[in-house]
Amino acid sequence: MGEGVSTDSTDDDSSIDCRAVVEELYTFLDGELSDGRRIQIERHYTGCSGCHEIVEFHASLKMTIASKCQEPVPDALRQRIRDALRAAE
Ligand SMILES: [Zn+2]
Repeated sequence: MGEGVSTDSTDDDSSIDCRAVVEELYTFLDGELSDGRRIQIERHYTGCSGCHEIVEFHASLKMTIASKCQEPVPDALRQRIRDALRAAE
């Protein structure tokens, strides 16, 4: 499913794949993940250009939204973004 099979080695200390990064993206960006999980995601996306782009894009999007209105991103919007990401796969 999807492209970019990023299992480039046999080290399986990460149970993170591209789907997990997308699914936990906003939890990650909100800083609500546990340290271990956050590190796993960081490790994945720093080595995965596709996820790196997604993370960078949403990090900047989040900052833009935060700077324009002082309200948190509504859950409905998050859900729509997630759906859009899923549909793009
Ligand atoms: Zn990835």
